Amino acid sequence: MLPDATLSADPATTLAASPATDQGANPVANPATLTDALQSLEHVFGYTAFRPPQDEIIATLLDGGDALVVMPTGGGKSLCYQLPALLRPGCAIVISPLIALMQDQVDALTQLGVRAAFLNSSLAPQDAHAVEQAWLSDQLDLLYVAPERLLQPRMLELMEQVSPALFAIDEAHCVSQWGHDFREDYLQLSVLHERFANVPRIALTATADERTRQEIAQRLGLEQARHFVASFDRPNIRYRISLKDNPRAQLLRFLRDEQSGNAGIVYCLSRKRVDETAAWLADQGFSALPYHAGLASDVRERHQRRFLREEGVIIVATIAFGMGIDKPDVRFVAHLDLPKTVEAYYQETGRAGRDGEPSDAWLVYGLQDVITLRQMLQQSQGSEDYKREEQRRLSAMLGLCEITTCRRQALLQYFGEALSEPCGNCDNCLTPVETWDGTEAAQMALSAVYRTGQRFGVNHLIDVLRGVENDKIFSNDHHQLPTFGVGQALDARQWRSVFRQLVARGYVSVDMNRYGALVMQESCRAVLRGEASVDLRKDPKPSAAKRTTKTALPEHIDIGLFEALRECRRELAEEQGIPPYIVFHDRTLHQICERRPQTVQEFAAISGVGDRKCEKYAEAFLEVVRREAGTS
Ligand code: ADP
Ligand code: ZN
Repeated sequence: MLPDATLSADPATTLAASPATDQGANPVANPATLTDALQSLEHVFGYTAFRPPQDEIIATLLDGGDALVVMPTGGGKSLCYQLPALLRPGCAIVISPLIALMQDQVDALTQLGVRAAFLNSSLAPQDAHAVEQAWLSDQLDLLYVAPERLLQPRMLELMEQVSPALFAIDEAHCVSQWGHDFREDYLQLSVLHERFANVPRIALTATADERTRQEIAQRLGLEQARHFVASFDRPNIRYRISLKDNPRAQLLRFLRDEQSGNAGIVYCLSRKRVDETAAWLADQGFSALPYHAGLASDVRERHQRRFLREEGVIIVATIAFGMGIDKPDVRFVAHLDLPKTVEAYYQETGRAGRDGEPSDAWLVYGLQDVITLRQMLQQSQGSEDYKREEQRRLSAMLGLCEITTCRRQALLQYFGEALSEPCGNCDNCLTPVETWDGTEAAQMALSAVYRTGQRFGVNHLIDVLRGVENDKIFSNDHHQLPTFGVGQALDARQWRSVFRQLVARGYVSVDMNRYGALVMQESCRAVLRGEASVDLRKDPKPSAAKRTTKTALPEHIDIGLFEALRECRRELAEEQGIPPYIVFHDRTLHQICERRPQTVQEFAAISGVGDRKCEKYAEAFLEVVRREAGTS
């Protein structure tokens, strides 16, 4: 059986919901314009304005032109082809390698009253046949197809019979042979250009770098296409990076104080830590589930499904989790271990807040993380060049952790984009970091490294500086060194901070072949000679760690009402067997809280409420608003 949701059973409503579909009847005489697009945006999607450059992209396609779109996750890429799909005659073909997501995408469109379906290997032959029939008899606005399917000769022939409205090539970076997501099939997609020269094409990706973009343009024959590159900033994500100091307690405080009832992802470096952390969080009363490549595939699927379908599930995962997760209401991404690169950090944190609502990227790290990562790198396969490059990227990540200025500016700069003002929504902007002149301390620390022969790790070096008398000190005669005990003015925690920052800045490196011994680097000479001064970050005392203001819920939102709306959404979703966010995104619930609509008309004006959803859901949610007003 074809799942109910795959095909909208009610084309009449669809037509009513998207008046511009009428344009399709006589496209030549009356091609759709941006004004039509704006109407559909309101009536079908329930939004009042385009997010630039959506409008220009849509205008380009409506005009029959091609587009190459680079936009961050959550930027609003899908609308760029979904709207023209409704407005141009015929059915749009959307090519995506992520077949696991197709059901959700089709469910979401069906909820809006849009006629959508998919074709991929997960469908039984008779279901696939039914979809094809619907397509060929002009009952579909959008058809999602896996690339290998699209390239079958039969499909190509069918497409010649029913000229598509447009081709949307999603995840277009899959053509890049240098990337991690390379798909052989994607290379063949140039055939679309050759065989269907008159059908507009739009290629979309969230991969930022210039080389990949050129590769996409070249391999897909999109050199003539208009390129649209949106800013990579994700303003709704608050970046916070702090020092590890009893990470579990820190995580618990973050989850309890700021993320109560929210869905999120906790990343750990190893499978073992994933399992332990998930079990511990479950003990603490959270719905936390582990996810890593070592779990049986049915377990992984079950956990992923619960994450998508239930409210407030926390996934504890290695980096194996994430690709192809399209959940819009992930409210936080927490890292209990340091990501290896800024690219990885940005990609992982980017999974938070696709719906544009306030979200948190939270990371704790310490010197031990650096040591562990360096160790993994040393032991990894790969050429010396590769290791050097990875080393460089790890240092950039460390740099991001240690900076005392705006993190967003630094992040964007890393990706070649300038942000003129500090963002006001990262920890360094919200709680400016104090610095101190650590030149003398740095000299003492470096001198301790030097005089002990560059053979010892941080803990022992701190003992030397602090004049601790223990066996290791005596057996190495380190109590006789001139450096012994010169550093009593700082406590062990402060010295750790000094060493960590020296490592992060590359004055010393950690030698993994010698159990984490610190080794001096060329650049430290200037410090020792007194030619360079060293400003260090003043690490906050753990007890004094200030709480940043909550971001979990936008201000002035009544939690009781929000919870009641969430419950209503959960029930409606469950009845239909779809994830709650397909009923409404958090943003819509937040607006209901703010505006407390009393009438259907007021309800229809809420962002995310299109005609179809208004018809379906207004009554249920208005009832919740009324009920809650009565109780408060
Ligand atoms: P991407 O595919 O780029 O990751 P999506 O297409 O999933 O992003 O869009 C992200 C979110 O933004 C979705 O919740 C979508 O409904 C919303 N959105 C997109 N365009 C608009 C708009 N013009 N106004 C309001 N919300 C929008
Ligand atoms: Zn900032």
